Amino acid sequence: MTKHPLTNEICDQTQDSFRYMTIQEKKILLNKLKTAYKTCFDCGHKYGVYSVGCSSVYESKCEVCGETKKITETRDFAYFITGISKLKKELACLEKNN
Ligand SMILES: [Zn+2]
Repeated sequence: MTKHPLTNEICDQTQDSFRYMTIQEKKILLNKLKTAYKTCFDCGHKYGVYSVGCSSVYESKCEVCGETKKITETRDFAYFITGISKLKKELACLEKNN
């Protein structure tokens, strides 16, 4: 079991990238990942898995972190399926424990 250092939540599903986030922040992130159409490569690699780079790359605002960087479509990162499923599992686990 992993104890959440900030909120004292207990959850063995906690992933390193989400460790320092509160439940509320995780919910907001989950929603962003589900609705984002454009993502920078940093967020893409963090929350998704890079697949085929078939979308065009250009400078714009990332819909996940809000920074202006080189962005592509979330399609290139399998629509964040891996990040979304990790976050969902973790939230379900945290809410059960609370
Ligand atoms: Zn980003």
